[in-house]
Amino acid sequence: MRFSMPYEQGPIRPPSEAYSLLVRVTRNCPWNKCEFCGVYEGAKFELRSVEEIKEDILRAAAFHAQRGVAVKTAFLQDANSVIMRTKDLVEVIKFLKETFPGIERVTSYGRSHTLAKRSVEELKELKDAGLSRIHVGLETGYGELLEYVKKGCTPEQHVTAGQRVKEAGITLSEYVMPGLGGKKWWREHATETARVLNRIDPDFIRIRSMSAKPGTPIHDKQERGEWERLNDEEIIREEQLFIQTLEGINSYFASDHMLNLLMELNGKFPEDKDELLGIIERYLELPQEEKFNFSIGRRLGYYMRLDDRENEEARTHVDIAVERLQRNFDGDMETAIIKCMEQMI
Ligand code: SF4
Repeated sequence: MRFSMPYEQGPIRPPSEAYSLLVRVTRNCPWNKCEFCGVYEGAKFELRSVEEIKEDILRAAAFHAQRGVAVKTAFLQDANSVIMRTKDLVEVIKFLKETFPGIERVTSYGRSHTLAKRSVEELKELKDAGLSRIHVGLETGYGELLEYVKKGCTPEQHVTAGQRVKEAGITLSEYVMPGLGGKKWWREHATETARVLNRIDPDFIRIRSMSAKPGTPIHDKQERGEWERLNDEEIIREEQLFIQTLEGINSYFASDHMLNLLMELNGKFPEDKDELLGIIERYLELPQEEKFNFSIGRRLGYYMRLDDRENEEARTHVDIAVERLQRNFDGDMETAIIKCMEQMI
């Protein structure tokens, strides 16, 4: 996939890498079977040669130098770049750092299945070359659900991968997907995911709420009634149980994805755990009408935090939108919220 840049870029990066230089070291996803994911649908995985990547890095350097842009962070695309031979990836990262001496952070996605096969020594080689952070799509720590959504790894592989990354001194960011277990497995998903993370103690736990994208296998299952989605309130109850079960960790918890309802769930464990639970309590205690109002305001981009409901201008816009949606959806606000969410994915 090529965009307007003079060097190749892939389609996605984590939200926290929004301002990073994107360096495409592999194309697409070597697994490409997760049932909730349509990012690389139909796209074949390819390794790029070290020479080809270096040429891209040089083109990126010339492009940014021309514009006087200082590059401080870089993200290695696409879905699982650590699948490259360690020796090759080390060469690429070293070259990237030599070409952009101002780079302070180099990050990549990594699948647990792949990372669990790397030794701590290999991961240390990557760390010494300059790889500072790995983002892992953990999604869930519940084995049955990992199989159900075809994640291609086990809870034990998640734990091994995470522990090795940490032992190598690389910052570890684990992505969890609230709502993935649907109505059937929300409890197991919350508690087992927390237990896996308790064993890993990653630097970051980031949440990205589930929303079944049309065209994905899980959306088809939803249409056939085989997988039942949770509504906003149910997802927050699941997050409550998840956070309650997280123990003995020192992770930073971040809600930094626009699909999440409560974007203010950010804090450091263990000291901020009660505060996070307090935010959830505050939401759960809202009257039903206020919960709907907040959900609509979030999905339409007027609110970020619970307190934003007190902003007069935002509130007026949301009240008008709620009235309109009530008319259009015959008072079925659950469906109205789903439709608003579908516009976001
Ligand atoms: S490993 Fe990641 S990119 Fe690949 S299919 Fe699964 S979620 Fe999508």
